[in-house]
Amino acid sequence: MSPNIAIIGAGFGGLCMAVRLEKAGIRSYTIFEKGPDVGGTWRDNTYPGAGCDIPSHLYSFSFEKYSSWTRRYPGQPEILDYLRRCADAHGLRPRIRLNTEVVSATFDEPSGRWRVRTTSGAGAGEEVFDVVVSAMGQLNRPHLPDIPGMSDFAGAAFHSARWDHSQDLAGRRVAVIGNGSSAAQFVPKVAEVAAHLDVFQRTPSWVIPKPDAVFGPRMRAALHRVPFLQRAYREWVYRYGEHTLYPALAGGWSADLVRRRALDHLRAQVPDPELRARLTPDYPVGCKRVVIDSGFYPALTRPDVDVVTDPIVRIVPEGVRTVAGLREADVIVYATGFRTTEFLAPVRITGRGGRVLAEEWREGAEAYLGIAVPRFPNLFLLYGPNTNLGHNSIVFMIECQVRYIMGCLPHLAERGPMEVRPEAMATWRRSLDRAMSRMVWQAGCRSWYKNEAGRVTGNWPGTTMLYRRITRAPRPDAFRFAR
Ligand code: FAD
Repeated sequence: MSPNIAIIGAGFGGLCMAVRLEKAGIRSYTIFEKGPDVGGTWRDNTYPGAGCDIPSHLYSFSFEKYSSWTRRYPGQPEILDYLRRCADAHGLRPRIRLNTEVVSATFDEPSGRWRVRTTSGAGAGEEVFDVVVSAMGQLNRPHLPDIPGMSDFAGAAFHSARWDHSQDLAGRRVAVIGNGSSAAQFVPKVAEVAAHLDVFQRTPSWVIPKPDAVFGPRMRAALHRVPFLQRAYREWVYRYGEHTLYPALAGGWSADLVRRRALDHLRAQVPDPELRARLTPDYPVGCKRVVIDSGFYPALTRPDVDVVTDPIVRIVPEGVRTVAGLREADVIVYATGFRTTEFLAPVRITGRGGRVLAEEWREGAEAYLGIAVPRFPNLFLLYGPNTNLGHNSIVFMIECQVRYIMGCLPHLAERGPMEVRPEAMATWRRSLDRAMSRMVWQAGCRSWYKNEAGRVTGNWPGTTMLYRRITRAPRPDAFRFAR
């Protein structure tokens, strides 16, 4: 009999898991999704200019190649549309429970099953599953900074991932706090309409150009009719990430190339030497996520846009007070990223022996292959600790993880709940630490890849080819089985 599987989240991860189960003829699964639709990241991030920075011909499922992308880096609406189509095309909708948040999952030792508790409009409920797959994403819960006086602000304030479309920014004074990838995408759009825009920058980002291109009807038709063309393009984008961008993060040959590219881009787009100096990072390229954008710098050079580097003291009713004085604002947009290091924290996950996952992870989240955690039998993670990337498509990683979990299902069906052995976890930790020590993320910058103690819990330090190889199939000797 097929195991009964709870999937938490209906973004790229949850949908991928469900499609693979469907393809294997396993229909005993339920996807719980706290939001009102599928799409995850791409449902939530609706800010002006939102889009991917990995070309979508690669940033899409290998089993659902799509020749209709209208450009190399499509915007959020197209990506969301793609995910909705996947859910429909594979008949997933009947098994997706929208507006249903999982609040806890508790492993019941006598039965070897998980009790999953949800809340929804209809109230709380509890159901029992053999397997829990977390597909809750890493960039799902907005991070708001801890600036004194935030609640005193008299105007409108919102996070970029929860864009308030009821606010018309035309003719208004807008303060943007943050200058990472999201800000780089929406600042040019906001600058076009706002009366004045202040971009508050704590640390400058490295920015490289985004070689976007329209894929016109002829190109799309060619990609559609000649599948080889699409495969070859996808492969080219993938190889570029692996062979050119990855070495830059691993202290390899291309670090200087990417650095020079970014500095040339800055010189070409920002003529004012004083502004250029303020926009020049003093940490190695790649230590924080590199911004890929061609419109950000030109927006920052506009006469009605200021880059404010004076430290913020507090938010006041009229705007943002810095050490140099008040910057008046009607609207504040927090482009301050996500709570990336907490992973599954909002869900109380209790494993064998009453162990609570959040407590196990007090020093930092960690999982064997980013997928399995000792003492949490039959719990599998997608896009878990140390599986984020700075150079390639997360969808590729998710597909590797889904294949691995699919490989676990026959084992646990035959031998009962499976749990990764602490020795396997310790070996994994050692190899991860070794690989991590050469990565640029360890340089002294602050980034969302690291937890408060400075441990990189977000990123995978190897190539994605290596990750695919080591996740090809589960090694039974790495696990304990109930039978
Ligand atoms: P998500 O898309 O975050 O989906 C998680 C889902 O789980 C959400 O729908 C959420 O509502 C649901 N959920 C969470 N908790 C619960 C709960 N307790 N109960 C029920 N449901 C729950 N990656 C790239 O590789 N390339 C890119 O170009 C790229 N661009 C990005 C741009 C932006 C603006 C952002 C924010 C991220 C980007 N990423 C990119 C990273 C992106 O998050 C991943 O690529 C991918 O979308 C992750 O999918 P996921 O399903 O794991 O997580």
